[in-house]
Order: sequence, then structure tokens, then C-alpha cells
Amino acid sequence: MINFVGMGVAWFYFEMRLKSHSVGLAGFTLVEIMIVILILAMLLAIIVPYYVKQRATAQANGCINNLIKIEAAANEFALECGKKTGDPINYPTDLIAYIKPQAGHIPPCPAGGVYQIASVGGYPTCSLGTTVTPNHVIP
Ligand SMILES: [Zn+2]
Repeated sequence: MINFVGMGVAWFYFEMRLKSHSVGLAGFTLVEIMIVILILAMLLAIIVPYYVKQRATAQANGCINNLIKIEAAANEFALECGKKTGDPINYPTDLIAYIKPQAGHIPPCPAGGVYQIASVGGYPTCSLGTTVTPNHVIP
């Protein structure tokens, strides 16, 4: 594909040189404009999927970071309130004071998932979980 783009660019400059020797008509021909549009379309076809993937990866990393914060808050809640492994957690009421660094605010999943944690010692989960790539689960 790169060779094809290179050939298109070379042909474009060849046409420009021809035009520079002629006197009169200014501007671009339809073929030149079509070539520029084709080159831009090919660049977009390469770049857009890359950015979509990067966005999904960033959302998953943010979600995993939030899940780790919720797990830490659950552990701190259990330690402070004398809970044992398996004791139920009333999420988010029990944990809201233990979320760091902003107590009182549990950050939402960047992709719109809903968090859940059932008991002390269990892992918090995102409702998106393994339905998206990359997964929203604690590794
Ligand atoms: Zn999530």
C-alpha cells in the first residue's frame, strides 16, 4: 500500500511540473484532487482503527484502576469494622468513606459499566467484565 501511495505522490508532482511549464490554467484537475482524497482516505483507514483501539485500552485501564480502589476500600472497611472474609458488603454505602483519594465519590467505569462487590474478600466486578476487549477485570 505504501508503494501505491508513493506512486500516487510521485505522479502528483510529475503533473505539477508539467503544469508549471504551461502558461494559463491555474488550480488542480479533478484527477489530482481525487488522488489527494484517495491518499487521505488511505491514511484515515490506517489511523482510525488505531485510535479506536487505544480508546478501549484506556477505558479498560481506568476501569481496572477503579476496581483496585474499590477492593482496597473493601479491605479497609473490613479492617476498621471488624468484618471477616465472606461477610456481606452493602455497596456502595459501606465503602463510600474509604475510596481514596476522593472520599464520598466512587469513580464510575469510563465505559459506562456498573461496579458490584458482594462480600469481604471477594473481587469487585464491572458489569462489562469480559464482554468487551480488553476485559474490565482485575488481572
Ligand atoms: Zn468497566
